[in-house]
Amino acid sequence: MTTTTGDGAAAPETCRCGHTWDHKAVVPTPRYGFWRSMTLFYGVTAKPRRVDYVCVRCGQTVKSTTDPAVLRDFTTE
Ligand SMILES: [Zn+2]
Repeated sequence: MTTTTGDGAAAPETCRCGHTWDHKAVVPTPRYGFWRSMTLFYGVTAKPRRVDYVCVRCGQTVKSTTDPAVLRDFTTE
């Protein structure tokens, strides 16, 4: 029995359908977490702390990124 807790750190290269992160069936999904409500409170832009690439067919997270350049694309004004 493995006790690894999924925190997106060890995401597989492909989902169970075999799609890679840049496949059409895999969509980037910003994750905001706790700080989203805090940023709303302070009235600043909400920047996701992470972007998960999720397959729409199986729902599996293929890849996660915290690259600032990527996160910036998902920052809401
Ligand atoms: Zn899939």
